[in-house]
Order: sequence, then structure tokens, then C-alpha cells
Amino acid sequence: MSRIAMTTTLIRGGRVIDPASRIDGIFDLLVTGGEIEAVEPGGTIAPADGAAVIDAPGCWVVPGLIDPHVHLRDPGFPEKETIASGLRAAAAGGFTAVAAMANTNPVNDSPATTAYMIERARLAHAARLVPVSAVTRGLAGAECVDYAAMARAGARLFSDDGMPVDDEVLLGRAMDEIGRLNFAISLHEEDRGLSCHGAVNAGDIARRLGVPGYSDAAEANRIRRDLALAIGSGAPIHIAHVSTRESLDLIRAARRRGARVTCEVTPHHFGLDERAVLRWGPNAKMNPPLRSRDDVAAIHEGVADGTIDMIASDHAPHDPASKHLDQVAGYFDPGHDADELPPDAAREFSAAANGIVGLETSLGLALELVHRSLIGAARLVEMMSLAPAALLRLEAGTLAPGGAADITVIDPNMAWTVEPARFRSKSRNTPFAGKALRGKALMTLVAGAVVFDARKVEQ
Ligand SMILES: [Zn+2]
Repeated sequence: MSRIAMTTTLIRGGRVIDPASRIDGIFDLLVTGGEIEAVEPGGTIAPADGAAVIDAPGCWVVPGLIDPHVHLRDPGFPEKETIASGLRAAAAGGFTAVAAMANTNPVNDSPATTAYMIERARLAHAARLVPVSAVTRGLAGAECVDYAAMARAGARLFSDDGMPVDDEVLLGRAMDEIGRLNFAISLHEEDRGLSCHGAVNAGDIARRLGVPGYSDAAEANRIRRDLALAIGSGAPIHIAHVSTRESLDLIRAARRRGARVTCEVTPHHFGLDERAVLRWGPNAKMNPPLRSRDDVAAIHEGVADGTIDMIASDHAPHDPASKHLDQVAGYFDPGHDADELPPDAAREFSAAANGIVGLETSLGLALELVHRSLIGAARLVEMMSLAPAALLRLEAGTLAPGGAADITVIDPNMAWTVEPARFRSKSRNTPFAGKALRGKALMTLVAGAVVFDARKVEQ
């Protein structure tokens, strides 16, 4: 590329936080031709002629955020989300890359589907898409996918997420094969014999609503089994959306025994407890469910002590019909707690789709951990960029010169209110509507190109 054709951007005066380079201070950052060219103390880089200048005093300048767990519903469910809308939502949330789970239609278990996802993402000019391959064909749990072929096609993580892998022998084989390819397997841990189609955490709230309960044993049993498998095989595993105290204790114990295990939590599992279901109904219903106050406290401890490696939104867009919002209208209201549901409403609630959107609220909710002094800013960057990059085997998660200029500029103190009507996502299913948050992505750059600029969004 000729020098003239290279665009240059100078981001100056911001607090650059790059744990991989042990940098945390006021620096200028020079981007040329899509790559990071230099990171120098603030005020020392003069803008070249024609360079775009982003003044960032008071802002954090961090390696682009990476979400290791999202559902983009494409191919198959354009009424919920498309790759284009999902990647625009990601960019608006400060993410430069997201790992798109395989439970689409068709399931991403073939190189052709992976190629479709990559091509759609290329056309979107937003965040990058990292394809996640299914572990079993059709997510049916019976037959292994051709992992080497999927890795060649571009998959960088393997998961049947949405479904557990029930067959222990098959899972052991999958762990070994995926581990030999030097990738990780991400596990949705649910013993369906114990979760019993539970709609809400087992306990008082489930009883009060008159809906089936989802026990923490349903999660712990599978985590216990799979940690034992991982210790036996030596293969790396990743545990998705950990939600209980017991799960974290199991992970700590397995690490002491040498398991190569990483884990993620979602902002809703540390930001809400099971009582939120009483007000938000289906928009606070997900798998695993919101848990008890004690579990939320345990997740805060796990974030603070390093047991939890990373934050994942588990962005799960759904249209109102899939959430059965009409069928339960009148029973849930953000203004007061619901009481027992009549049997038909309880059935409709229980059958409503699981999951909430998260890409545009994840950073704001995660920043609460920093504002409450549970963790520092550098640790947040590790959890939202460096650790997910390592899980996905991406050369990312750092601002070191020579790497792609995937950068997020964050105003950590901007006060804003969650307004689902303004989401870039096609879906609105969130229990955080109206919530006041502090901190937001101002700009998202992918390979040096601005893919989101809050200042250019119509107010
Ligand atoms: Zn899951």
C-alpha cells in the first residue's frame, strides 16, 4: 500500500489502558493503514497533515472489546436479528468482535454456513464476527462435526450453546479433538433431567409465580462432570454463563487439580437477581435463570478474586411473539411485583423463549463493577478484551504497535438511560429498560475505521 493511500488517525490525550502491554496512563495513539503504529506519552505525537484527530481527554482508550458469546440469529431468524443488525449493535456497545453462536437455522455445523456468516459480516462494516462451530451436527448431540474442516473455514470456538452435550463419551472425544486443534470448547452446562424446563430459579420466586423451578444442581452436576473430563483429557474447556456459587467453587477446586478451564459471567447474572422476574416477566427469563442474592454475591466475589475470566453478554434477541408477551400481558409490570399466575399464564410464561439482548448494555453494566470498586479499570479491560481474545485465539486484546487497530474509546462517566427503542439490535427484550447507567462507548474502531461514533448518532 502506498503511503498516500494510508489513512492516519491520532487519538490523543486519553487514558490508554492496555494490560497486555502493562500500560495505564495518558498516552497518544497513532493509527496508520489500519494498524497501531505508535503509543507514546500524551502530548508527544504531533498530528501529520491530513490525519484525523480524536481528542480523548477524560476517556479511556482500550483494546477493542470482545464478546465471546452472542446469538445473531442469522441465518434463520431475521425477525429477531441479522448479522448486520447484530454487528451494528455490537459496535454501538463498544465491541470490535463478537463470537456468534451456532444455534442458527441451519445450524453452523458446515463450512458453507460459516462462509455465509463471514461474508455477511464483511458486508456489514461494523464489528468483526468470529464464527462458533457446533460441537454436534444440528446440535442434536449425536454426531461430531468435522472440527478440522470448521477450523479451516474460520471457526475459532466450538459450542452447542443453547443445548448441553448430554453424551459424556461423545463430549470427551470432542474435547480431545478440539483440544488437538488448539481451540477451546464452550460448554452450556445443564442437566435437563434436573432443570425440568424450569422457567425461574428454583425457590420462593418460582413457587410464588407457580412455575417450574430450575435448580442450581442442574448446572453444578454438569460442571462437575465436565471438569472431571477436562482434568482427564488435559484439553482446554470454557464454561459459559456461570450463574451460581456452587459452580464457582467447583471451578476453583478443579483449577487446583490442574484443569485448563476458563469461565464467563453475564452482566445480568451479576446485575440482577431472581426477583427481577417478578417485574419483568419473560424479559427477565433466560437459561440459566437469574439466581439468588447469595449467588449474585458469589459472582461479585468471583469477579474480584479472578475466578471469573471474562464477561459475555449472551446477547439473545427475541421478538415479542417468541417471548409470549401478549399472553402474559397484565401480569408483569416494572412498577410492582407479580403474584401467582393463573395456570394458563404460567404455562405461557414457562414456554416463552429464553434470553435477553445485551450487546448495548453490557459495557454500562460491567462498568458498575468498577464504579463500585469491585475491580479496577485494567481488570475490566482484561475481562472484556484480553481474556476473550485468548479464548478465541485472536491476535487482539492489546494496543501493542503492529497489531490491528481495533480500539474502543469509552467515556467511563457519561450518564445515560437504557432506552430499548434506540437499540441498533432488532430486538428489545431487556429487563434494563429505564435503568440509569454511568459509562458508555463513544467510538469503536475496527482496523482503524470508525464503525460507531456516538457523536454522530442523531440525538
Ligand atoms: Zn447457553
